[in-house]
Amino acid sequence: MSENNTHFIKHIVTKDMEEKKYEEVVTRFPPEPNGYLHIGHAKSIVLNFELADEFHGRTNLRFDDTNPLKEDKEYVDAIKTDIEWLGYEPEELRFASNYFEDMYKQAVSLIERGLAYVEDLSQEEIRELRGTLTEAGKESPSRTRSIEENLELFEQMRQGKFADGEKVLRAKIDMSSPNINLRDPILYRISHTEHHNTGDTWCIYPMYSFAHPLEDAIEGVTHSLCTLEFEDQRPLYDWVIAHANLESTPKQIEFARLNLTNTVMSKRKLKQLVDENYVDGWDDPRMPTISGLRRRGFTPESIKQFCREIGVSKADNLVDFRMLEHFLREDLKLKAPRTMAVLDPIKVIITNYPEGHVEWLPADINPENDEMGMREIPFSKEIYIEREDFMEDPPKKYFRLFPGNEVRIKHAYFIKCHDFVKDENGKITELHCTYDPETKSGSGFNARKVKGTLHYVEASQAVPAEFRLYDSLIDDEAEGNNFLDHVNEASLTVQHGFVEPNMKEAAPNDKFQFFRHGYFNVDPQDSTEEKLIFNRIVGLKSSFKL
Ligand code: ATP
Ligand code: MG
Ligand code: MG
Repeated sequence: MSENNTHFIKHIVTKDMEEKKYEEVVTRFPPEPNGYLHIGHAKSIVLNFELADEFHGRTNLRFDDTNPLKEDKEYVDAIKTDIEWLGYEPEELRFASNYFEDMYKQAVSLIERGLAYVEDLSQEEIRELRGTLTEAGKESPSRTRSIEENLELFEQMRQGKFADGEKVLRAKIDMSSPNINLRDPILYRISHTEHHNTGDTWCIYPMYSFAHPLEDAIEGVTHSLCTLEFEDQRPLYDWVIAHANLESTPKQIEFARLNLTNTVMSKRKLKQLVDENYVDGWDDPRMPTISGLRRRGFTPESIKQFCREIGVSKADNLVDFRMLEHFLREDLKLKAPRTMAVLDPIKVIITNYPEGHVEWLPADINPENDEMGMREIPFSKEIYIEREDFMEDPPKKYFRLFPGNEVRIKHAYFIKCHDFVKDENGKITELHCTYDPETKSGSGFNARKVKGTLHYVEASQAVPAEFRLYDSLIDDEAEGNNFLDHVNEASLTVQHGFVEPNMKEAAPNDKFQFFRHGYFNVDPQDSTEEKLIFNRIVGLKSSFKL
């Protein structure tokens, strides 16, 4: 990490290590396998892995799979793939569900010490007695149950003697605490649901706020980083740690979650977009998921650099999506080969060019990086240019092609338009131009100047390709309830055109800069040798400034 990436968590860890509070820094990334990872998770991944790394510590990947209802093996696999793709290697792979027996024992131990009790009241009744910020809670009749009876009832809960919701286990803390989380929070609930890892072994499951600190302590985590919404739960986290029979004393530290403009960032909402077919799966290139960004063409380096630069603080913030795009351009600027693609072609006939002749012209692969060398591109009597690069009746200051005007064809010659052909609907189908052999690129010709430079693809060798152009998935800030009303219906535009002949060799996920169009990725799902498909990652220019 660079100097400017220091942050308050790093200060806390530095101090802890100076005071020798811990032998080694241990962090964890704890996703719940109930959806695919998104760019917000990347912030947490980068933070956890790089923080531990900086202190020569270690980071576990732990699946926080204590809620059987929404969890699935498919998500477990996808999460592993994404973390590996980002370039991080967890020290250990853990499943919270493997600690169910330990957690159960911890709960029994709390009961034995009079620190937990079985509750008969319903969720609703519990909520009612819990009180509000201004009104103290009231004690439940179950609170005075004997330790023996609690032990027996909890055992029966485990054995499946009760239906879902019939009983819960609560911590006995303080019904008048100003922190509502400490008013005898629920530790265990009954759920007769098959679990992706433990099958039907269990019908009681620990609540997140009980399970999470135990998971951290079991693994010897020292700094448990989570997002701000858990700040109020920290006293409960500390209570669980203080009363657990475990050696470790992890500490919870909260930071602000990442929010991005023009997107939604919650697995629930992303799942809804998938389930209701607004997008073409979790890895749709418009999705802010890691798999969507990967398919779109974002690189691990661009995502990581973005996460490092947005910083870590306690203040909620909204980050401009264009900042992520900025880091993609930065990453690919010197790496991606430059090439020419015509997305919406119109044919140009060079009337004075010899019939049947093809010449090969030298072109640099990346003018900003000489080391990438040169390529050869064909030129002949028939080429394609972009339809928008010609106008029959241009406005003032239009420097591209129009009747009577001369432009430069990139890497080739000046051409001048003298005629065009229209079909019966008035659509222009063909331009007729002449070229001037004196003006060949690299010849040093400077007798006259032209103002426009157009890219092209030679027609006889052009390779047909599909281009998928993306716009924001969500048209404005729509983190409210009706985000589905804000789905941008024009978030995908498909065009069919041509690329240079050497692109036949392009492999899935190869990335290019198409002259004037931006950065593109060969779609890893749909592109084939017979039908090349390119996803536009980002355009070339942006008004965005860091
Ligand atoms: P979501 O609310 O988007 O479904 P989550 O918080 O429920 O996400 P988890 O699987 O529980 O998702 O999160 C794993 C880790 O990633 C947690 O430590 C969580 O705090 C962190 N995390 C999730 N979303 C963000 C975000 N937008 N910014 C930073 N960290 C995040
Ligand atoms: Mg969650
Ligand atoms: Mg959540």
